[in-house]
Amino acid sequence: MSADCIFCKIAKGEIPSNKVFEDDQFIVFHDIKPIAPVHFLIVPKAHIESLLSTEVTHQDLLGKALLMAPKLALQLGLKGFRTMINTGREGGQEVFHLHIHVFGGSAVLPRT
Ligand code: AMP
Ligand code: ZN
Repeated sequence: MSADCIFCKIAKGEIPSNKVFEDDQFIVFHDIKPIAPVHFLIVPKAHIESLLSTEVTHQDLLGKALLMAPKLALQLGLKGFRTMINTGREGGQEVFHLHIHVFGGSAVLPRT
Protein backbone atom coordinates (compact mmCIF):
# COMPACT_ATOMS: atom_id res chain seq x y z
CA MET A 1 0.00 0.00 0.00
CA SER A 2 1.24 3.39 -0.94
CA ALA A 3 -0.62 6.19 0.86
CA ASP A 4 -1.38 8.42 -2.12
CA CYS A 5 -1.84 5.72 -4.73
CA ILE A 6 -5.25 5.77 -6.38
CA PHE A 7 -5.12 2.10 -7.43
CA CYS A 8 -4.19 1.03 -3.88
CA LYS A 9 -7.24 2.97 -2.70
CA ILE A 10 -9.43 1.25 -5.30
CA ALA A 11 -7.97 -2.15 -4.29
CA LYS A 12 -8.90 -1.42 -0.66
CA GLY A 13 -12.40 -0.28 -1.60
CA GLU A 14 -11.72 3.28 -0.42
CA ILE A 15 -12.49 4.67 -3.89
CA PRO A 16 -15.29 3.12 -5.95
CA SER A 17 -14.65 1.43 -9.27
CA ASN A 18 -16.71 -0.28 -11.92
CA LYS A 19 -15.45 -3.71 -11.00
CA VAL A 20 -15.09 -6.62 -13.44
CA PHE A 21 -13.38 -9.15 -11.19
CA GLU A 22 -11.65 -9.42 -7.83
CA ASP A 23 -9.74 -12.08 -5.92
CA ASP A 24 -7.12 -11.95 -3.18
CA GLN A 25 -4.35 -10.88 -5.56
CA PHE A 26 -6.06 -8.77 -8.23
CA ILE A 27 -8.73 -6.21 -8.87
CA VAL A 28 -9.99 -5.62 -12.39
CA PHE A 29 -12.13 -2.62 -13.26
CA HIS A 30 -13.27 -0.57 -16.23
CA ASP A 31 -11.05 2.37 -17.16
CA ILE A 32 -12.67 5.68 -16.21
CA LYS A 33 -11.67 7.18 -19.60
CA PRO A 34 -12.10 4.29 -22.04
CA ILE A 35 -10.33 4.46 -25.38
CA ALA A 36 -12.40 1.63 -26.87
CA PRO A 37 -15.96 0.31 -26.31
CA VAL A 38 -14.54 -2.12 -23.73
CA HIS A 39 -11.48 -1.01 -21.76
CA PHE A 40 -10.52 -2.51 -18.44
CA LEU A 41 -7.46 -2.57 -16.22
CA ILE A 42 -5.93 -5.65 -14.58
CA VAL A 43 -4.34 -4.44 -11.35
CA PRO A 44 -2.38 -6.50 -8.82
CA LYS A 45 -3.40 -5.45 -5.31
CA ALA A 46 0.23 -5.29 -4.19
CA HIS A 47 1.72 -1.88 -4.83
CA ILE A 48 4.30 -2.40 -7.58
CA GLU A 49 5.18 0.86 -9.30
CA SER A 50 5.73 -0.39 -12.82
CA LEU A 51 7.33 -3.16 -14.87
CA LEU A 52 10.63 -1.43 -14.06
CA SER A 53 10.15 -2.51 -10.43
CA THR A 54 9.44 -6.17 -11.17
CA GLU A 55 11.80 -9.04 -10.41
CA VAL A 56 11.80 -12.79 -10.79
CA THR A 57 9.77 -13.01 -7.56
CA HIS A 58 6.88 -11.41 -9.50
CA GLN A 59 6.92 -14.08 -12.21
CA ASP A 60 3.88 -15.93 -10.91
CA LEU A 61 1.87 -12.72 -10.44
CA LEU A 62 2.75 -11.45 -13.92
CA GLY A 63 1.82 -14.78 -15.48
CA LYS A 64 -1.52 -14.83 -13.69
CA ALA A 65 -2.23 -11.23 -14.73
CA LEU A 66 -1.62 -12.02 -18.39
CA LEU A 67 -3.76 -15.16 -18.26
CA MET A 68 -6.66 -13.09 -16.93
CA ALA A 69 -6.75 -10.91 -20.04
CA PRO A 70 -8.30 -13.40 -22.51
CA LYS A 71 -10.54 -14.92 -19.87
CA LEU A 72 -12.12 -11.62 -18.86
CA ALA A 73 -12.12 -10.22 -22.41
CA LEU A 74 -14.18 -13.21 -23.58
CA GLN A 75 -16.54 -12.80 -20.62
CA LEU A 76 -17.10 -9.18 -21.67
CA GLY A 77 -17.96 -10.24 -25.19
CA LEU A 78 -14.72 -9.44 -26.98
CA LYS A 79 -13.42 -11.74 -29.70
CA GLY A 80 -10.06 -10.00 -29.85
CA PHE A 81 -8.39 -7.28 -27.85
CA ARG A 82 -5.26 -5.22 -27.38
CA THR A 83 -3.11 -5.20 -24.27
CA MET A 84 -0.90 -2.31 -23.19
CA ILE A 85 1.43 -1.75 -20.26
CA ASN A 86 2.73 1.81 -20.04
CA THR A 87 5.99 1.86 -18.14
CA GLY A 88 7.60 4.95 -16.66
CA ARG A 89 6.92 8.57 -17.57
CA GLU A 90 8.67 8.07 -20.90
CA GLY A 91 6.40 5.12 -21.55
CA GLY A 92 3.29 7.22 -21.00
CA GLN A 93 2.53 5.88 -17.53
CA GLU A 94 0.29 8.17 -15.47
CA VAL A 95 -0.69 5.96 -12.55
CA PHE A 96 2.41 4.52 -10.92
CA HIS A 97 0.85 1.25 -9.81
CA LEU A 98 1.40 -1.59 -12.29
CA HIS A 99 -1.60 -2.36 -14.49
CA ILE A 100 -2.41 -4.00 -17.78
CA HIS A 101 -4.83 -2.21 -20.10
CA VAL A 102 -7.11 -4.54 -22.06
CA PHE A 103 -9.31 -2.95 -24.69
CA GLY A 104 -11.33 -3.79 -27.77
CA GLY A 105 -14.80 -3.86 -29.15
CA SER A 106 -14.26 -1.89 -32.31
CA ALA A 107 -14.28 -4.01 -35.44
CA VAL A 108 -10.63 -3.21 -36.08
CA LEU A 109 -8.51 -1.11 -33.78
CA PRO A 110 -6.22 1.34 -35.57
CA ARG A 111 -2.56 0.35 -35.57
CA THR A 112 -0.49 2.70 -33.44
P1 AMP B 1 -1.48 4.72 -17.53
O1 AMP B 1 -1.18 5.83 -18.47
O2 AMP B 1 -1.14 3.37 -18.12
O3 AMP B 1 -0.86 4.93 -16.16
O4 AMP B 1 -3.04 4.70 -17.41
C1 AMP B 1 -3.74 4.96 -16.25
C2 AMP B 1 -5.20 4.73 -16.59
O5 AMP B 1 -5.94 4.74 -15.39
C3 AMP B 1 -5.82 5.77 -17.53
O6 AMP B 1 -6.32 5.12 -18.69
C4 AMP B 1 -6.94 6.37 -16.67
O7 AMP B 1 -8.08 6.70 -17.42
C5 AMP B 1 -7.20 5.29 -15.66
N1 AMP B 1 -7.74 5.74 -14.39
C6 AMP B 1 -7.28 6.75 -13.60
N2 AMP B 1 -8.04 6.87 -12.50
C7 AMP B 1 -9.00 5.91 -12.58
C8 AMP B 1 -10.09 5.52 -11.76
N3 AMP B 1 -10.36 6.16 -10.61
N4 AMP B 1 -10.87 4.51 -12.18
C9 AMP B 1 -10.62 3.87 -13.33
N5 AMP B 1 -9.60 4.18 -14.15
C10 AMP B 1 -8.82 5.19 -13.80
ZN1 ZN C 1 -0.62 1.43 -5.41
